[in-house]
Amino acid sequence: MPKSPWSVPVTEALHASGVRVADLDTNATPGFRGDKKAGELLLEQRRTVLSGLQEKLYANGRSGDPRSILLVLQGMDTAGKGGIVRHVIGSVDPQGVDHASFGVPTEQERRHNYLWRIRKQLPRGGQIGVFDRSHYEDVLVVRVHELVPQDVWGKRYDEINRFERTAADAGTTIIKVAMFVSLDEQRKRLTQRLDRPDKYWKFDPADIGERAHWPDYQKAYQDVLDRTCTDYAPWYVVPSDRKWYSRLAVTELLIDALEALDLDWPPAHFDIEEQRRRLAAS
Ligand code: AMP
Ligand code: MG
Repeated sequence: MPKSPWSVPVTEALHASGVRVADLDTNATPGFRGDKKAGELLLEQRRTVLSGLQEKLYANGRSGDPRSILLVLQGMDTAGKGGIVRHVIGSVDPQGVDHASFGVPTEQERRHNYLWRIRKQLPRGGQIGVFDRSHYEDVLVVRVHELVPQDVWGKRYDEINRFERTAADAGTTIIKVAMFVSLDEQRKRLTQRLDRPDKYWKFDPADIGERAHWPDYQKAYQDVLDRTCTDYAPWYVVPSDRKWYSRLAVTELLIDALEALDLDWPPAHFDIEEQRRRLAAS
């Protein structure tokens, strides 16, 4: 048998337990034996596998199976969340994707509990839900900028765990991905956004100000990983300086979650022979 391109399964290589955010090597490629070329080649193949599994999930959903997948993407600006949506999620049938991105809450959203807008976007049976940012912003940006007092955000870790537990119990496999780039890599990517007219639209002057809060964000991310990595909704830490690696890694995480559902094609709800006869006679 040919040697696996992974020395360690991705779910082990990237699991958040024990990770120190401040010491993370964001340029690393944990568990993967190959280089960029090998990674890109493999990604092409694995996108097809992912797409086949997703079609089965969707087919089962159409037949009433309540199970779904939720991919939560968190990361600082330029970490590559959008690239995951385009290059990983982009390989599956869009009918089967429930995509939601969470920005600064609207006035209406602010009138509700922070989980209100999140709950509304949980994936239906058969869907892959993708959160580009999420309820974790309510213990990240909200904490770093003290948008609510500590006794409010401090309670949210347990609330979030309970919320995710309920979703998991209802049939949603939750995969949480924290993407980390280095401060230098972020500067390069922000510079590109200023150098290239096709990237201006992604540039937000506020992102530069956030760089000054890097250590605060690292601390906030550390608490997220320490307090909300659970059996039913684990965190995976993805070093993201190399885009080919982060895309491949998330593809593998999704494939792993879908394979664990052990899906079959839903059986026919009609008599096949009878339908053949009718069709032949029609
Ligand atoms: P982007 O993902 O680049 O479109 O930016 C979305 C912005 O919305 C980021 O700066 C987030 O920090 C911010 N954001 C998301 N959720 C919240 C929240 N609950 N409270 C305040 N800001 C938020
Ligand atoms: Mg942005």
